[in-house]
Amino acid sequence: MRIEDLSASELVDSIAARQVSALEVTDHFLGRIEALDKELGAFLSVFPDFAREQARRVDAGQVTGRLAGLPVAIKDNMCTVGQKTTCGSRILENFVPPYEATAVARLRAQGAVLLGKTNLDEFAMGSSTENSAYQVTRNPWDPSRVPGGSSGGSAAAVAARMAPLALGSDTGGSIRQPAALCGVTGLKPTYGRVSRYGLVAFASSLDQIGPLARSAQDCALALDVLAGLDPRDTTSSDAPYVSGLQADVRGLKLGVPRSFLSDLAPDMARVFEEACQVLVGLGATLVDVQLPNLSGALAAYYIVAPAEASSNLARYDGTRYGFRAADAPDVLTMFKRTRARGFGAEVKRRIMIGTYVLSAGYYDAYYLKAQKVRTVLSRDFAAAFEQCDLILMPTTPSTAFKIGEKSSDPLEMYLSDIYTVALNLAGLPGLVVPSAPVGGLPTGLQIIGRAFDEPRLLSCGHAFQTATDFHQRHPEPSYQS
Ligand code: GLN
Repeated sequence: MRIEDLSASELVDSIAARQVSALEVTDHFLGRIEALDKELGAFLSVFPDFAREQARRVDAGQVTGRLAGLPVAIKDNMCTVGQKTTCGSRILENFVPPYEATAVARLRAQGAVLLGKTNLDEFAMGSSTENSAYQVTRNPWDPSRVPGGSSGGSAAAVAARMAPLALGSDTGGSIRQPAALCGVTGLKPTYGRVSRYGLVAFASSLDQIGPLARSAQDCALALDVLAGLDPRDTTSSDAPYVSGLQADVRGLKLGVPRSFLSDLAPDMARVFEEACQVLVGLGATLVDVQLPNLSGALAAYYIVAPAEASSNLARYDGTRYGFRAADAPDVLTMFKRTRARGFGAEVKRRIMIGTYVLSAGYYDAYYLKAQKVRTVLSRDFAAAFEQCDLILMPTTPSTAFKIGEKSSDPLEMYLSDIYTVALNLAGLPGLVVPSAPVGGLPTGLQIIGRAFDEPRLLSCGHAFQTATDFHQRHPEPSYQS
């Protein structure tokens, strides 16, 4: 058994049992990054010395905890003290945070070893990781294709077994969509389940941090550490999280919003149906549910998210953070030049859309209306959950697309998020587990739950993974030779 074949849970157990040292494990993953990442471009920075030092401390018994010695990769929009946090943007090119995101601190407090920071669409705005100011990330299953986004670096790192666990953030699908396209398991927790402190804000009412890993079991292990109240994030919740998975779905009622899925491409519809049948085979029943306003979710999301982004990104003006245009004769010109040069095209587009929908005269027609759509969506979900325990949906309308295929057409790119954004608007948790491939490329089944019902989601995903092996398949690309 090679070290990279072990799941996160198995690695933690093997290190605890001293079958393998934390340093060997860290070295192994650093070696894989060294061998593979020139081609894949998943990491923006790697910390070999720092990682080895953390691993040595675990081996010396100076650090203990539930993740002792487990290497993790962190999306580069979470603050890591003393290590650059770029958000994939020029404007934060040299930003070294003076504090740590709570999610990162919690992993470290349990002995996790930080390997490095992963690539993302600039400020997490995108569905392909092509909006990064620094590099393209390639899908390990086919390097001519995108890994999805915006947590594309984290998903590619887990898929190529360069890290057994990674953190992503999900504002409209950025954990779930890349998980599906890279064939890994990803969890977007309930809004409030995981502290957002130190996550660079994109759309604060939607953003949520979560794990990408190889199985529901590994996501559960991570959530156990990540979940909980944080006095530094007033939207974080103290709702109890009881870990412990049951691979038993007998009697569970699973809702499928069939009328919303009628446009799904035949191959994607087939694998979705097969995935549903796996759970039926395990004793669950399918019920048809109506989510009548789901078709408004994408439009509402692309109003609410840019509106919040336009406000959140106002702080990058060259005064306090990162890049500053040096050649400006006065302060206003400095602001303008800093922002004109520091932000990429998609971020500017969002700032303009967001400013527009919030401006006097348009606020009621766009922003307020989108917020109303949000309310009716939440009601739709509440009504659906009267009839079922969990809801099943596909994650993406297609498998991973080619690099460059959608990058010049923003609307086409936004349509990639059609099945993921509604959960963020309603604040609900969603788990993606790998389902059958289409044309040799991964797909993902999305399991949606009531707020704070992660144990049930994860148990359902775990049950699915006891009956299928899609999560165990992994790419063996030729460049790995
Ligand atoms: N693809 C979506 C967007 O571009 C979602 C991004 C995210 O979840 N961070 O906004």
